[in-house]
Amino acid sequence: MNCTDAQTLFNQYLDGELHSTEQPVFDEHLAACVSCSESLSRLRALMEQAEELPSMVSPHNDLWPGIRNQISNSSPPRALCDSVVNNSSND
Ligand SMILES: [Zn+2]
Repeated sequence: MNCTDAQTLFNQYLDGELHSTEQPVFDEHLAACVSCSESLSRLRALMEQAEELPSMVSPHNDLWPGIRNQISNSSPPRALCDSVVNNSSND
């Protein structure tokens, strides 16, 4: 297994979905490869942060139905819709 192979398995590994034949080869590569081992710990930390994220981003999600209603009620030109979407994504 090389680094590219190992990295394609990171998500499955963290989800506990690694195939039983892949697990030992993956573990063996991680033990030998500092780069992949560090990448995996960073990814694991990111996933732990992401689990805490929904409560932080939910206000933005709650705003969208209201914005969408305003857009569909007032039926602005398409260009205005695009500028509203672009502004909110730059926020
Ligand atoms: Zn590696």
